[in-house]
Amino acid sequence: MEKQAKIFVAGHRGMVGSAIVRRLQQSGYTQVLTRGRQELDLLNQQAVHDFMHAERPDYLFIAAAKVGGIHANNVYRAEFLYQNLVIETNLIHAAHTAGVQSLMFLGSSCIYPKLAPQPLKEDCLLTGPLEPTNEPYAIAKIAGIKLCEAYNDQYGRQYISVMPTNLYGPNDNYDLNNSHVLPALIRKAHEAKQRGDASLVVWGTGTPMREFLYADDLADACVHLMEQGYSGPLVNIGTGTDVTIRELAETVVKVVGFEGDLTFDSTKPDGTPRKLMDVSRLHSLGWKARTSLEDGIALAYQDFLSRQA
Ligand code: GDP
Repeated sequence: MEKQAKIFVAGHRGMVGSAIVRRLQQSGYTQVLTRGRQELDLLNQQAVHDFMHAERPDYLFIAAAKVGGIHANNVYRAEFLYQNLVIETNLIHAAHTAGVQSLMFLGSSCIYPKLAPQPLKEDCLLTGPLEPTNEPYAIAKIAGIKLCEAYNDQYGRQYISVMPTNLYGPNDNYDLNNSHVLPALIRKAHEAKQRGDASLVVWGTGTPMREFLYADDLADACVHLMEQGYSGPLVNIGTGTDVTIRELAETVVKVVGFEGDLTFDSTKPDGTPRKLMDVSRLHSLGWKARTSLEDGIALAYQDFLSRQA
């Protein structure tokens, strides 16, 4: 990517999109294009088409998506399937018709089968049934990957897909019901500490294992691959190590300074037992995660506190 290239980041207000914009700006890219929801509704096919044909960016990062944690994915099943399909098909198709040669589509580790061998290799895609709680989101993301592959096969485009593991960082969603586990636990621990509660409730049994990547690390990996001109198959983006939800909760309460107990609410779903990414393809492309979980949680907690003020 040339420093003067026109680069459109779709979804720049979100955690991932904002991290990509930060990384691009830090690296001296001068034409980073963004549009807020008021200016460009990504669910509106005509609007996306008109925008893409007017701007004709050189590169496109698709970080826009309807996202949420286990509860939101499981309950707003129709919105997760419909909105994600529409956002990605609008963007990918309009990019193609506008002649955009190079784009990056961001998916999620939940696209892999629930019981696939761990760590999850890219080639286990579509080898078994999905985890039911986030099947609608996963189906939409799988469609996006296949759409990119189809434009590459049929039209020689360079549309690549990357699958980040569970993410956290600045601009995360801290909603108690709809967020992912890490931001939810940061908020719960902070509020429990403030109230002087004796215990903090963690959903599920605490035994599922998850891998967590700091959003700025993800952004660095994404820009690294685009800078390399990578044009191969799907790439997992993760750290290669995971922790139990109990261990995660213990780390969060330590960083936040909550000294009460943890209790586990097993009436809440556990979701998939484990989803550790195999990151050998990513490592072979010259990139490794930098931020440790504890450092990342401390940075995320700072971000959370800065939003309280
Ligand atoms: P998932 O990775 O798609 O399953 O999504 P989440 O990040 O929402 O949940 C990961 C795991 O954390 C699941 O086993 C949840 O039951 C567990 N968990 C524990 N406490 C919480 C919480 O407060 N919020 C969320 N979202 N998950 C929690």
